[in-house]
Amino acid sequence: TPVLAIESSCDDTACAIVASDGAILAEAVLSQSGHIPFGGVVPEIAARAHLAALPALVRHTLDRAGLPPSGLGAIAASTGPGLIGGLIVGAGVAKGLAVALDRPFVAVNHIEAHALTARLPGLVPGGAPFPYLLLLVSGGHCQCIAVEGVGRYRKLGGTIDDAAGEAFDKVAKMLGLGWPGGPAVEALAAEGDPAPYPLPRPLFGRPGCDFSFSGLKTAVAQKLAPFAAGALPRSAAAGIAASFQDAVAAIVADRVAHALDMMPQATLLVAAGGVAANTRLRACLTDLAASRGLPFAAPPLRLCTDNAVMVAWAAIETLRERHARGLPPADDLDLLPRPRWPLEQMAERFPMTAP
Ligand code: ATP
Ligand code: FE
Repeated sequence: TPVLAIESSCDDTACAIVASDGAILAEAVLSQSGHIPFGGVVPEIAARAHLAALPALVRHTLDRAGLPPSGLGAIAASTGPGLIGGLIVGAGVAKGLAVALDRPFVAVNHIEAHALTARLPGLVPGGAPFPYLLLLVSGGHCQCIAVEGVGRYRKLGGTIDDAAGEAFDKVAKMLGLGWPGGPAVEALAAEGDPAPYPLPRPLFGRPGCDFSFSGLKTAVAQKLAPFAAGALPRSAAAGIAASFQDAVAAIVADRVAHALDMMPQATLLVAAGGVAANTRLRACLTDLAASRGLPFAAPPLRLCTDNAVMVAWAAIETLRERHARGLPPADDLDLLPRPRWPLEQMAERFPMTAP
């Protein structure tokens, strides 16, 4: 029976209905525009906008699926990690629906949802069997995760300062481009020559698979410093954008190469998160995976960025795992959303059974 899911952990309000075989019956995402004048997400504006949008969005999603509310089998929501106001709104709406319809409520870890998206039937040829290596590169996250099973995740490394998407957004701001910055930087980089603007590649070649982007960001600021305000030639802006993008792609590919060394049992490399949309990065990761004899997969962009299809799918995998272990399907309605919820803690849901 279909699962309805709500996603409200950041600035996208999303709702989706997914059948238990993975068929997407309806999906909708509203990207909030109220943050644009501020050049970044304002948590209080986000929470209020989720609250204003969700009732109609849920109704719309049900209509699109052609389902009466009673046709739903479970209700899920991202309950962390993320901005707490939005999480409370999304979880509250989902719990209300669950109570009203007398269906199980499933609390989904937003990062777990990103991690399991590649397993949606039909996305990856062969279906993304465990174990695989996930590179999560978004506005808020930059991590390498060993995905070993439902509820079984090991963080191999992550950023020690900025996330990759955050670096793209900050560099876009320095270059006078709009927000979000990733697509704008990529477009400008396409016409630039990186050669005159060499940039450092923090942590490149170092052991492990942690990331660092703040030194790179500072170096971009230094390249821009000689140009007076408003006097940056387009060719220089494009060259710096291209050099920055090359540096990020090279750093990420190097870090992922180390992560693959740490996870020799991986059968697949998966990238998710908004930065995985970057063509240059995708090309580097495709080459890297090929050099290791591994397939590389990235979900289509709309499923890479924040969406509710992934939340519904993670709920379906969770329900399946609970059923297989004889555990009750529903999470407690007293469960509170959590701004932080490390993936490692998901194992608590499925304690190892004694042999
Ligand atoms: P999180 O999912 O971690 O909570 P988020 O919602 O900001 O954070 P996403 O929606 O997955 O993350 O991704 C948005 C980020 O992806 C932004 O930082 C944006 O600049 C970046 N991005 C989008 N497209 C591109 C691109 N083509 N190249 C580089 N970065 C991009
Ligand atoms: Fe996300």
